[in-house]
Amino acid sequence: MKDLVERLDKLLRAFEKYSDFVRGSINSVCAKCNRAYCICETKTSRRAYRLTYKNSEQKTRIVYIPESRLPKIRKMIANYSKSRKIIEQIIETNIEIFKNEARR
Ligand SMILES: [Zn+2]
Repeated sequence: MKDLVERLDKLLRAFEKYSDFVRGSINSVCAKCNRAYCICETKTSRRAYRLTYKNSEQKTRIVYIPESRLPKIRKMIANYSKSRKIIEQIIETNIEIFKNEARR
């Protein structure tokens, strides 16, 4: 039981570490025509970056993000996937704790 409580404690601390997260994926489009594959007559190499995500109603949404924020937002997306894994582990650990308590 002590092991389980310690494991839970570790997981909660890990969750906090990755709690700065966002869901979605980053893609880029031409800054002029707004398409992934540029159709402009005079090509520009300038790209606009956006985050595509699903809101709480599962509707796909797009938000433009400044290029300077890309590294930070990429990190936040990675944090989200780590957080989800940790949440699953927290649930499993709590279930183990319940089982242990029921055996007493
Ligand atoms: Zn274009």
